Amino acid sequence: MPARTDRTTDPELLAALLLARRGQAYFSRALNELRTSELGAPSLVPGWLRRHVVAHVGLNARALTRLTQWAATGVETPMYASPEERDAEIELGATLPARALRNLSAHAAVHLDVEWRDLADDAWHAQVRTAQGRVVPASETVWMRTREVWIHAVDLDHGASFRHFPPELVDLLLADVVRVWGSRQDAPPEARTALGAAGGAGLRALDRVPAPGGPVTVRGRAADLARWATGRGGAHLLTTADGSPVPEPPRWL
Ligand code: ZN
Repeated sequence: MPARTDRTTDPELLAALLLARRGQAYFSRALNELRTSELGAPSLVPGWLRRHVVAHVGLNARALTRLTQWAATGVETPMYASPEERDAEIELGATLPARALRNLSAHAAVHLDVEWRDLADDAWHAQVRTAQGRVVPASETVWMRTREVWIHAVDLDHGASFRHFPPELVDLLLADVVRVWGSRQDAPPEARTALGAAGGAGLRALDRVPAPGGPVTVRGRAADLARWATGRGGAHLLTTADGSPVPEPPRWL
């Protein structure tokens, strides 16, 4: 019998699950508000229609479900067989009739959520491997899903915005960006991008962002900074400490 409530009682994990579920609701609402005729319009992801975003988010839930099943059973089941297979599946998914596409999105999300509810505490700590090859505890699937659903809701380009995100989510995104950028830079830790103080309520800064003329400090509203740093534009909403142009952000994911 599937549990009706989460088996874990870890308060941190329960808070993380709540943020993922709020994100799923946010994404689903944005999708529901799109008429079928609007699904064929471009999304904010270069080269992707909204249909691709919907297919990808549904398939991502399935891939993360494979990781939770791996954690629950100990039987290795990777997210995707290969990057090529992942991309081919998205292309194929994007061609589904609208109703099937909406079903994929809804059912995959529910399935993942059922897996999460049923996961025992020790399984949450089991090690699994992400599509990028990182070895992480199964609990990381919650954050992986969280950033997908919230940001891809914005990518649907139908009213969702980083400025609607809960402040704690914006903080987590900025921390994730700093972590990912740092993991790629050769620079010593003290020379890597870090969160800085920008002075003023709601303002944040990213210090030592790589730029063509040398590292710069980029400042702005936390939500706008997270938007730009995750590759979703909005550089015009930000400033640099020395007045130089806001650079292109390094790749995030
Ligand atoms: Zn994605």
